[in-house]
Amino acid sequence: MLPVSYGLLPEKQMRAMVQPAPGVPLQMQERADLSLGDREIRVKVSACGVCRTDLHVVDAELPGIKYPIVPGHEIVGRVDLVGRDVTTHAIGDRVGIPWLGYTCGVCRFCREGMENLCDRPLFTGYTRDGGYATHTIADARYAFPLGEDGDDVSIAPLLCAGLIGWRSLVMAGNAERLGIYGFGAAGHIVAQIARWQGRYVYAFTRSGDVEAQEFARRLGAVWAGGSDQLPDAPLDAAIIYAPAGALVPAALRAVRKGGRVVCAGIHMSDIPSFPYDILWQERQLVSVANLTRQDGADFLKIVPQAGIRTQTTAFPLVEANEVLTKLRTGQILGAAVLEP
Ligand SMILES: [Zn+2]
Ligand SMILES: [Zn+2]
Repeated sequence: MLPVSYGLLPEKQMRAMVQPAPGVPLQMQERADLSLGDREIRVKVSACGVCRTDLHVVDAELPGIKYPIVPGHEIVGRVDLVGRDVTTHAIGDRVGIPWLGYTCGVCRFCREGMENLCDRPLFTGYTRDGGYATHTIADARYAFPLGEDGDDVSIAPLLCAGLIGWRSLVMAGNAERLGIYGFGAAGHIVAQIARWQGRYVYAFTRSGDVEAQEFARRLGAVWAGGSDQLPDAPLDAAIIYAPAGALVPAALRAVRKGGRVVCAGIHMSDIPSFPYDILWQERQLVSVANLTRQDGADFLKIVPQAGIRTQTTAFPLVEANEVLTKLRTGQILGAAVLEP
C-alpha cells in the first residue's frame, strides 16, 4: 500500500544546508515537511558527494540558480515516501539521485536522444533542491536504482564525478594515450575506467601537487606531472576537469594531430587566446554537458566490471561550507562526501 499522507515526519527531523541568496554561506535550517508530487519520491539521504559544480552554484557562477537553494547532486539514500503514480521505486529501496533532475520529453533534444541538452531541464542542487540535507525530493523517473552492493559514501561520487566522467571518456573516443587535466573526483574515477579499458593515463595536476601526482600513479597513471608540463609522448585525447580556461591551450599543445580535447566542466574561467596553430591539423575542441539516463545505466553497469574504487573522505553535513573551501583550495584527495 502506498501511503497517502505526505506529512509523516515532524519538522525537526528534516534539515538542510541552504543558501538563501548569492554570496552568503550555507546555513543549516530545519525545513517544513517537503510536499511530494505524484511522480516524486522522498529520499532519506545517507550520503551526498561534493562536486566542483556545487562550488559554481555557491559562488553564483551559473545562471538561473533557484534561491533558496540546497546544493548537492551526488545523492545516495533510501526511498521513504512515494508519490501516487510511482511504480518504479518502493519504500526502502536504495537510490542514486544525479544532476539531471527532470527533462521536458518533447523538445527536439529530448526526442532525438539528447536529453542532456533538454531545453527545459531541471538540475538537482541547482534549479531544484539537492542532497545537502537529511531528506530530498526527486522525480522518480530520474533516480537510479542502486541495489545493495557497496557502501553509500563510496557510491556517492559515482553519481556525478563518475557519470559525467564516463560521458566525457566516451566523448574522448578511442584514445590510447589519454590526458586527464585536474585529477580530483572525476579524474580518479575515469583513470580507473581508462586503465581497465587498456588505455595509458597521463595525469595533470596543479603545478607542484606531488600528493595528487602520486595518487594518480597509484591508480595506474603512466605519467603524472603539472599542467604546465608536456607529457613524454603526444596524447591522443585529453579531458579537462579543472575549471581553468588556461588548460585548453595547454591540452591542445599536448595532443597529436587529429587529437581531441574535451572540456568536461559546467563552468570555466575565460580561455586565453591562442595561436590557430595548436588547433590546426584537425585537432578538435568539444564540451560535455550534463548526462542522459542512458549514460547512468551504462556507467552503473561498468562500475563493478571495472572494479572502480572511489577514494572518499566523509564529513558531517553541517561542515558543508568548510568542505567547499577545502575543495576550492585543492585540499581534497579524491572526493568529499557529506553525511547528514
Ligand atoms: Zn526537453
Ligand atoms: Zn557534479
